[in-house]
Amino acid sequence: MRRPLIAGNWKMNLTRDEAVNLARGVGAAAGDGEVDVLVCPTFVHLEGVISAVEGSKVAVGGQDVYFESNGAFTGETSTAMLGDLGCQYVILGHSERRNVIGESDKLINQKLHAALAAGLKPILCVGELLEQREANETMAVVKSQLDGSLENVTAEQMANVVIAYEPVWAIGTGKTASPEQAQEVHADLRSLLATRYNQEVSDGVRILYGGSVKPANAADLMACPDIDGALVGGAALKADSFAEIIAAAG
Ligand code: PGA
Repeated sequence: MRRPLIAGNWKMNLTRDEAVNLARGVGAAAGDGEVDVLVCPTFVHLEGVISAVEGSKVAVGGQDVYFESNGAFTGETSTAMLGDLGCQYVILGHSERRNVIGESDKLINQKLHAALAAGLKPILCVGELLEQREANETMAVVKSQLDGSLENVTAEQMANVVIAYEPVWAIGTGKTASPEQAQEVHADLRSLLATRYNQEVSDGVRILYGGSVKPANAADLMACPDIDGALVGGAALKADSFAEIIAAAG
């Protein structure tokens, strides 16, 4: 009932030509099966990538956005600017933004409201650090990220929100959460959503797994009942490995 979504987070990588070529490759590989496919290049490559995937089923999203609609916010990009280009999604609260740039749940919540108001689908990322997992704090951490980031977001609005569980210790490290570890957190996230909203929201929201997803582990992760797709970093930078991950979700 939940349509799988495979999203590529290209982070701060690729030249313009490389981004356009990769987008063409993903467009050719995406087919028109039962899997939603998304790529999120850096802002400066958005326009080229959007042209490159035209006519394919690939959607394009931003890796972040600012919550103010316009004005004196040097370096920032608005939701209207992303929408105007043709973006459908935006990643929010990625662990690199939380832990490297220092974004708070409050800021992520402001961005999430702005994205929804502009008709963009936010992919809200949550996830624990290694020391938090080792201290058995995983659920407390993701619950507080979820509560803070979703403040005043209604059950109706949740139809347009995607959640990504990305354990920080698994991102870019080659160390993937086992399917059991990932499924456990995804199931817990789903029951948090049932408590916070209702069963319909809990059953309907797509929860992606992210953190060293690659062709070799994608099928086992995607087979878990509460994993509805993947947010892929490194393996999304090659069209053939990304295509294998898409196939694993189909
Ligand atoms: P990775 O990144 O696949 O390179 O671990 C995932 C992410 O940060 O979204």
